Amino acid sequence: MGYLEDEVKRLHTVLGNVEGRLKALEERQFGKSSGKTAEEIRMILIGPPGAGKGTQAPKIKEKFSCCHLATGDMLRSQVAKKTPLGREAKKIMDQGGLVSDDIVIGMIKEELDHNPECKGGFILDGFPRTVPQAVGLDSMLQARKQTLQHAVELQIDDALLVARITGRLVHPASGRSYHATFNPPQKPMTDDVTGEPLVQRSDDNAEALKKRLATYHQQTAPVVDYYRNTGIWKAIDASQEPNQVWKSLLAIFDGDKAKAQSSGAGILSRIAHPSRS
Ligand code: ADP
Ligand code: AMP
Repeated sequence: MGYLEDEVKRLHTVLGNVEGRLKALEERQFGKSSGKTAEEIRMILIGPPGAGKGTQAPKIKEKFSCCHLATGDMLRSQVAKKTPLGREAKKIMDQGGLVSDDIVIGMIKEELDHNPECKGGFILDGFPRTVPQAVGLDSMLQARKQTLQHAVELQIDDALLVARITGRLVHPASGRSYHATFNPPQKPMTDDVTGEPLVQRSDDNAEALKKRLATYHQQTAPVVDYYRNTGIWKAIDASQEPNQVWKSLLAIFDGDKAKAQSSGAGILSRIAHPSRS
């Protein structure tokens, strides 16, 4: 019995030292009050155009130091460079249709394989948009021995999206989005960070939105069902104020932490009280 007690004491000391060292390293890496975390995140944001994916994703990126992959931004960058893919994609995008699954799956794979920011995890925004894309993502992750942690659906009524989309202003280089009324830049039509001009997307008009919403309901709603059955799906009311939406996201992440802590506490309590196992 004396041996067991000594061993338990010794392991407690080892664990305490490891925890202390980990905390100190994390604080050195992220700074004490930065609000950042060393956890890895692997998640997707699903929602209709204008739901707020591009507004919330940079905040998640900041918190987890991961990459934010928005297939719409990647395609727009091809359009701006007038590449053959960009020329082809522009026609489809302006009509509110979807670019081919193979192309977008290839773009995501390329980023996950080579973008160093993705080492801290990823937020996928606007992907997957079809069930074959979701299946493609699953096999990509399987090959990397990774799993998705969250499929968060931003739920909002179509009726609220017209005002959001027709008032949206974007900074093309970064993908940052503003809103003429709901989230205006400090200086009209100017990006707060770079001072560069903001633009309105060519597909951000009421007519194209109608088609994009129809595409969403036909082809992307089944993706929600695909994840609803997996246990990683969670829904958030995206009609709330942006800060409230952020709080709902934080509650999802805090739920993870609580789960991790309770399983850690389980291990510790079993070490401290071996008879309870
Ligand atoms: P998505 O990336 O889902 O298409 P965005 O994040 O670009 O949508 O948001 C669309 C527009 O709505 C932007 O102009 C943005 O400033 C605005 N917006 C985003 N979230 C909210 C919100 N919770 N309330 C009001 N306006 C919002
Ligand atoms: P978004 O910036 O997410 O609103 O996307 C703009 C447009 O890019 C969409 O209307 C589609 O035409 C195209 N697009 C973006 N992501 C995808 C995707 N995952 N699959 C197919 N097309 C996409």
